[in-house]
Formats: sequence, structure tokens, C-alpha cells
Amino acid sequence: MALKFAFYLAAGCAGCEMALVDLADRLVDALEHLEVVFWAPTVADVKYKDLEKMPDKSIDVALVDGAVRLSEQEHILKILRQKSKILVAFGICASMGGIAGLANVHTKEEIFETVYFKTYSTDNPEGVVPQTKCVVDGKYELTLPEFLEKVKPVCEVVEVDYFVGGCPPHHEHVAKIVEAIVSGNLPPKGSWITDGKSVCDVCPRNPASKGEKREFVREVKRTIEGVPDEEKCLLQQGYVCFGPITQGDCGASCPKVNIPCRGCGGPLPGVKDFGARAISAIGSVLSEEAVDQLIEKYGNLTKLFYRYSLPASLLGGRR
Ligand code: SF4
Ligand code: SF4
Ligand code: SF4
Repeated sequence: MALKFAFYLAAGCAGCEMALVDLADRLVDALEHLEVVFWAPTVADVKYKDLEKMPDKSIDVALVDGAVRLSEQEHILKILRQKSKILVAFGICASMGGIAGLANVHTKEEIFETVYFKTYSTDNPEGVVPQTKCVVDGKYELTLPEFLEKVKPVCEVVEVDYFVGGCPPHHEHVAKIVEAIVSGNLPPKGSWITDGKSVCDVCPRNPASKGEKREFVREVKRTIEGVPDEEKCLLQQGYVCFGPITQGDCGASCPKVNIPCRGCGGPLPGVKDFGARAISAIGSVLSEEAVDQLIEKYGNLTKLFYRYSLPASLLGGRR
């Protein structure tokens, strides 16, 4: 019997859904085992009321991509949780807040001020900002979802059974996840679905795999400063590479094309706070002068170390 499957996009870019579509012929094979009962708002023309009418726990597996920024997303997630046996936070936005979660270093008021008043392309002489309710022609009440005070990972709103990293998850890894779901061969609830290896473990530049020793880094460089050597470890060359502390289910996609890992795979299992672990891991290989350069060259270290994980961190944001 086919598994009843749902996909919901909250505050994300839908790139995670594209990762599923990237499976191409393997998705066609998987679809034989999946009955899509809800895929909103991107793919199927289903209404939220259709979801509300479904019996509780009638959906076998629900995937959620994107973080939570609007009251509407909180509402739908709670219903989806009620209707689903397994709920997966799919991709780093859903699992940890993602790039959109960097908004948490600003207040809601600061964000509105910038978006509705201060950008070069904004012309807003009447000072209009979104309202959750307004009356049109004196009789029609229109509503908009509330913009929440901060971005939340999905697990802050509902219980999550499994977490998947990646921005988006790599299609090879997605294939393994779909197979695991279809076969029911899943890890204990609450786990990340990962091979458990770091990006360094699968990176062809890893000094250990070449029998070389890691050296102390004395100079920090940004990728805009030049083209890194294509063979050597990027971190050893002074580029901030989060490979040592990031799940490597992408197969080290970025270092393979000469770009340092930015940490989208999420923390290795057992790490509670990605940014804190990253500060400790990267800091431990930098000399004192290199630490000074890091501070000078990167305007905001919170945004560097918590690029994908601020809402799920112990800090959560600045407040
Ligand atoms: S994790 Fe990346 S690809 Fe997925 S929704 Fe967020 S920003 Fe888009
Ligand atoms: S630090 Fe980066 S470049 Fe170096 S081995 Fe690890 S993933 Fe590869
Ligand atoms: S190398 Fe790092 S940033 Fe690049 S896809 Fe893999 S986990 Fe994400």
C-alpha cells in the first residue's frame, strides 16, 4: 500500500522541494510507493481546509521545508503534526532556522523600518506597513498572517521526528532519505538523518587522508581576496571552512569546487550549538594574529558562525 505523503513549504525558498524533484527518474520510482495527499503552497492546488478535514494521523510522512516566521505557518504546522504519523524537518531552514534565521539579530521593528521605509527602492510617503486586519470599503475585513517577533525552527512549534540538513539537502542524500522512509528503515526518533561523517571526512583535500599534518593557520583570507589553491585544504590556506564540524552528506560539494564549506549540512550528531562548536573548532587552529584578522575581516561574527543555525542556537537571537 502506498505511503500517504505531504510536503509543506513554510518560510523557505522552495529549494528543498527542488532537491526532491532533482531525483528525476528515482523520484518516479519512489512515487509508485507514495500517494501525495498535500503539497502546499507550491505544487498541488489543495486548500488548508482540505488538510483540516483529514483524519488525525492519516498522513504517513510529512516533510516541512522552511523555518517559521508567520502565524499562518505556526497554525498549519500544528494541524500537519496532528494529521501526520512522522514529521520531518527537511533542510536546514526547517531544522535550525537557516539563512532567514539571521533576521533574529534584528528586532521586528528594525526589519519593518528597513523593508518598508529605508531601502532605496521604497516609496512609502503614507508610512503603510502590513496590518493583520484592515477594513476595505467600510465593510470587507481582510486579514494577513502576523509577522512573528522572531524566526523559529520547526521543532520550536511542534515535535519533529527527524531532522535533515542541507541548503538544500544534496539529491544523493535525498535519495537515501526517500528510500529509508519508503522502507521504514529509520533511525530513532529525534535524530538527524545522516551518515554521521563530517565534510572533512569525505573531502579529498583532507590533510589526514594524504598523511599530512594540520598546521597552525597564521593568516585569514576571504574568497574575494583571490583564488584558493585547488588541492590544499581550504582551512589550512586560511579560508574559514566549516568542514570539521558539519555533516558531510553532500559529499563535500563546496570544497570540491574550491569553495569553503559554510556549514549548511548542520551540526554533527551530538552537537547542541553549531556556532559555539564552530568557534571552538576554527579558533583552535588559528594563531593570535589570525584571530585578529578574522575579527577585522568579518563584520559580524554571529552571522559568520551562526549562518544557518541562529534560531536553534542557545542564543536564539540577540534578545
Ligand atoms: S534550506 Fe535552503 S534550499 Fe531549503 S528552503 Fe531553506 S533556503 Fe531554501
Ligand atoms: S577544512 Fe574544508 S577544505 Fe579542509 S579538509 Fe575540511 S572540508 Fe576539506
Ligand atoms: S560543503 Fe558545506 S556548505 Fe557546501 S553543501 Fe556541503 S555542508 Fe553545505
